[in-house]
Amino acid sequence: METNHFLNVNILDNTEITTTNNVFTLSSSKSSQPTLAKQILLDENMENCPACLNVLTIEKSTCSSCCQQFHDQCFLTDSNLCYACHDIIIQNSIYLHINIKMASVEFKELKSLIMGVDKKVNDFSQQLEKVEHNLTGMINEVKTDVNKLKTKYDESQLEITSLRRDFTELEQGVAGMD
Ligand SMILES: [Zn+2]
Ligand SMILES: [Zn+2]
Repeated sequence: METNHFLNVNILDNTEITTTNNVFTLSSSKSSQPTLAKQILLDENMENCPACLNVLTIEKSTCSSCCQQFHDQCFLTDSNLCYACHDIIIQNSIYLHINIKMASVEFKELKSLIMGVDKKVNDFSQQLEKVEHNLTGMINEVKTDVNKLKTKYDESQLEITSLRRDFTELEQGVAGMD
């Protein structure tokens, strides 16, 4: 049986795809480095690094935030995070920092507002004390005046009684003359 249906395809990296009786085999002139064809096969069966999109090797790390696996060189081993998650955390911390700053400004404004209200209450309280003081003075003045009036009234009453007595005596005197 003659099987000379040879098909040689030379791909970029010197990998030869040969076909004999519809059976595909892959062979490479360079055995140390993964060839493009090998890479394609590996890509189908193995996971890729989400950062560089190349197939994952043994030297890989898992991100503590997104739980995806990355090449060690595509990973921040110090923080145990991938670059994307690290950026998100940095952004969130900046956002948080801005929020804290804004809250702090709001708190300062609120504090000055409260202090302003407190000063107004103090001023009002002082005014009220003044009014109270003035009012007490006025009440005392009125009381003194009332007492003076009462004394005068009593004196008048006495005068009237005395005058009435004099009049009665005068009347009786006139009646005796008749
Ligand atoms: Zn990678
Ligand atoms: Zn991550």
